[in-house]
Amino acid sequence: MKKVGIFYHPSFSRKSYMTIGNRLRDFPEALEELLTRPNVQMFTSPRASEELILKVHAPEMLRMVARDPFCSTAYESVGGVVAGMEALAKGEIDRAFCFIGAGGHHAGYRQFWGACCFNDVVIAITRVREISSWRRFAIYDTDAHHGDGTRQLVDGDPEVLHVCFCGANYASADGTKVDVDVYRLAWAADANRQYVDAVRHQLPRVAQFRPDLLIWYYGFDTHLEDYGSLGLTEEAYFQICDLMIATAEECGIPLQVVLGGGSLPHLALATIPEIIRRLVEH
Ligand SMILES: [Zn+2]
Ligand SMILES: [Zn+2]
Repeated sequence: MKKVGIFYHPSFSRKSYMTIGNRLRDFPEALEELLTRPNVQMFTSPRASEELILKVHAPEMLRMVARDPFCSTAYESVGGVVAGMEALAKGEIDRAFCFIGAGGHHAGYRQFWGACCFNDVVIAITRVREISSWRRFAIYDTDAHHGDGTRQLVDGDPEVLHVCFCGANYASADGTKVDVDVYRLAWAADANRQYVDAVRHQLPRVAQFRPDLLIWYYGFDTHLEDYGSLGLTEEAYFQICDLMIATAEECGIPLQVVLGGGSLPHLALATIPEIIRRLVEH
C-alpha cells in the first residue's frame, strides 16, 4: 500500500487568488473519507523561506509578490510543494498531492503572471537537490497553458525533463524540453481520447530519462466549462492520473501531483478527491 501525503493550507480555501475565486471552498471537508484511510496523511503547508525562494528568483520578486493581492497565499503554496517533495525524497511517503492557493508555472526568474507568484516546482527541486541525492526530475504539465516560467527556469538544466501540453510543438536538441500542441484538438468530438493519447504518447520519455521523481502539474482549466477550455471532461483527468501512476510504478519512482489552474469549485470537488483516491488505492 502506498503512503500518500496531502499538503494543504486553510488559506487556499479562504483567500485563493481571484481568478480561481473560491474553487477550493469544499476543502478540506471533501477529503474526510480519504483521511480515514491508514495510508493517508494530511500536512499543513508551511511557509517557504525567503532564503530558499531567492535561490530561484530575483530579489525584486519578493517585493513584486508582496504588492500583488493575488499572491497572498504564495509562501504557503510554495511551502506545501517543497514539503511534499522533501517527504518524498526522504522516503517518508510514496505519493503526494499538493494543493496551492497561488500557482507556479508562469513564474520565471523576474516575472510572474496568470495567477502564479513563485515557481513552486522549481523551488522544490532546488531544495531537494540540497538535502538528498535526487538530481533528475520529470515534469509533465497538463494545465491548459504553456508553462513559460518553469521552462525559463529549467531551460539550461539537462537533468530536468519538462513536457508541456500547450499550443505549439517543440523539442529541444537533447530531448529534455518538449511542447506538445493539444490546442489543435480542442473541441474535437473525441477531445478526451485525443488528449489522453497525446499524453500517453509522451510518457515513454520518462523511463528513458530515468528521473528520481515524476511530477504531474495538474490543471483542470482544460475542462469544457473552465477558462482554458479544450473541451475535456473529468474522465480525461482520471485517465491521465492512471497513466502517471502506471509510469511512476514502471520506473520505480514516487509521484507528486501539484495543482495548477482551474476555477470552478464543482470541478475541484469532482476531480481532486477522485485523483487522490487513485493515488491511495492503485
Ligand atoms: Zn492554465
Ligand atoms: Zn508548453
